[in-house]
Amino acid sequence: MHSLDAIFKPRSIAIIGATTRKGSIGREILRNLFDYEFNGKIFPVNPRYENIHSVKAYPTVLSIPDAVDLAVIIVPKEHVMQAVEDCGRKGVKGLVIISAGFREVGGEGIKREEAIVAAIRKHGMRLIGPNCMGVIAAIPDVQMNATFSPAAPSLGNLAMMSQSGALGVAILLAAQKLNLGMSYFASVGNKADVSAPDLLEYWENDPHTDVIALYLESFGEPQRFFELSKRISKKKPIVVVKSGTSAAGARAASSHTGAMASLEVAVEALLQQAGVVRVSTIEEMIDVVAGFARAPVPRGNRVCIVTNAGGPGIMAADNVEAQGLVTAELSPKTQEAMRRYLPPEASVRNPVDMVAGAGPDEYEKILDLALADDGVDLAIAIFVPPLMIEPIEVMRRITRVGRAYDKPVLSVLMAEERYYEMIPREIPDAVPFYKFPEAAANVAAQMNRHREWRAVPAGKVRTFKADAKRARAIIDAKIEVGGGYLAPSDAYDVLDAFGFPVCKHRTVATDGDIAAAAKATGYPVVLKVVGEGIVHKSDIGGVVVGIDSRDELLAARKEMEKKLRAAGAWDAVTGFLVQEMASAGKEVILGVVRDPRLGPLLMFGMGGKYVEILRDVVFRVMPVTDIDAAEMVHRIKSYPLLEGVRGDVPVDIDFIVECIQRLAHLVTTIDGIEELDMNPVMVHPERAHCRVLDARIRVRAAKASI
Ligand code: ADP
Ligand code: MG
Repeated sequence: MHSLDAIFKPRSIAIIGATTRKGSIGREILRNLFDYEFNGKIFPVNPRYENIHSVKAYPTVLSIPDAVDLAVIIVPKEHVMQAVEDCGRKGVKGLVIISAGFREVGGEGIKREEAIVAAIRKHGMRLIGPNCMGVIAAIPDVQMNATFSPAAPSLGNLAMMSQSGALGVAILLAAQKLNLGMSYFASVGNKADVSAPDLLEYWENDPHTDVIALYLESFGEPQRFFELSKRISKKKPIVVVKSGTSAAGARAASSHTGAMASLEVAVEALLQQAGVVRVSTIEEMIDVVAGFARAPVPRGNRVCIVTNAGGPGIMAADNVEAQGLVTAELSPKTQEAMRRYLPPEASVRNPVDMVAGAGPDEYEKILDLALADDGVDLAIAIFVPPLMIEPIEVMRRITRVGRAYDKPVLSVLMAEERYYEMIPREIPDAVPFYKFPEAAANVAAQMNRHREWRAVPAGKVRTFKADAKRARAIIDAKIEVGGGYLAPSDAYDVLDAFGFPVCKHRTVATDGDIAAAAKATGYPVVLKVVGEGIVHKSDIGGVVVGIDSRDELLAARKEMEKKLRAAGAWDAVTGFLVQEMASAGKEVILGVVRDPRLGPLLMFGMGGKYVEILRDVVFRVMPVTDIDAAEMVHRIKSYPLLEGVRGDVPVDIDFIVECIQRLAHLVTTIDGIEELDMNPVMVHPERAHCRVLDARIRVRAAKASI
């Protein structure tokens, strides 16, 4: 038995705080339990009543003669603790605390919540809430609606969690209107105990659940959420609305990576790597969930659009292609068969425009032909009802053909409002239906992304031979002196210890012998200014490339000093770096910034001076697998530049993929790196010429001793 069974499959429920008072939560929950025809026993608890709605009431949970699996607690916050203690003594195993006035109010509320959590741990109970709207289990042997929601779902294959009670009600209302069935619904409120990862785990192998939907404001345990959703999304689509990422905003950072990372970026990376279907609005969530719940996952990305009106067909086609799907090429045989069936003014090339006269028979026949075509993976049927044709009959036929194939059919009905309520009643197994073509195209794209995700192998985390001891010594020494940016030579040493090809270089004091350094490095060289406060060296004239001789070097040194003085930066200068000149290639950036909640965020993108302007970068959270690393490179918009355009030879992509994995290895092996930028890494068609040209590593200060 799973510990959450007490909550989702109870055989008996105590309603602590049940009342007959109209408009009170204690009354609504009791009524919902009756109305939903709960399969077990119900025990109202309230010392002020003998009976509540002709059911015997008990003064406390301890006076109930039978065993109690679940208690729903609705009493005022001051009395919750007593009720919890009573439940513990009674041997109750599941709690749903509806009452508010806990962590969400701060101060005393936090203490109250902590005391409750301690009590449930002591008694081995599981808890949903507090400050929530309750739970529903629609599954046949349970039929429990322990919420005060005015709407309740019928039985279906969707399990849903909402962190917000109010949005939970809105979702239940919308689902009811669409006749979108659910297996479970949980409003989790403050998530003092049960949170998204627990529910994911519970629903992973639940035979009633095919689709999981989550409205999240915060992750709770990001790592556990990540690992579970990564695994479960290979089997069942997990649709997530994640809100609350905008306010946190930018962090104080001086690295390129830090400047471009935000909480939103981190969350997006995590959800993407977890294979979650992320949607941005509740409306989109309902659309997408309806698609997954009522249609099979497509086996490819080729879409056929069947319509009776040109405009919506084009809208659908545009949206389909904009989202990475393709409009299917129908076989000549299919086109011929369609041609025989349709009037001459119809178009049998995708989008198939049957023109306005098309009725139920045409929809059924043409969709049948489209779905039978091996080049079609998904169909979108669009119907704009002309006066003389009955929409419900058309929808019925679309559903009939759709159900005959193992390919998804999404329908678009651009009709009067009343039809959207009629369809679920008249056609309970209707294929997913939408009001606009772009909504259907978006659902198709989300379904396709899920298909692609399922096809991707899990990937492996690679490690490399590295001199971790040398790198750790450098980082630890910096931590000892209070952290901050490593000297360039130290940063290069750390990277070198982990196998990155750094440019040969020498650091020289401000008045040191740069010519000797250049001789040791070998011409041509690059001269760079060194100074801890100097961030973007080239902005202030602190980088001179392509120096071929001693004379040029000394002239460059002189000119650089002049520019640095003019920029008011000379006081910050502690020396110069003389560096080997790298062969020309493409400049990319690799970086890391540590997020306080999600850990190290890895970044890859097009590098050089314009990174912040182009923002052509991709982030990933740990662990970064070989598959993730390859995907990062392929995902940036400038990827074709790396592959070579206009006669350019492709750069060594494998080298970049390996660098990403080396960086992941470095930050997971060495503790204390807060930010790291390699900008640029010069990538070249030949691996032997690839080099790290510039690196900055910021190290944390020592942790306060306990
Ligand atoms: P910063 O980022 O502080 O301005 P960089 O060291 O990144 O300074 O240098 C700026 C630019 O100079 C690089 O983007 C690259 O185009 C060029 N550059 C720097 N070092 C080298 C080198 N060793 N070989 C070739 N080009 C270099
Ligand atoms: Mg740079």
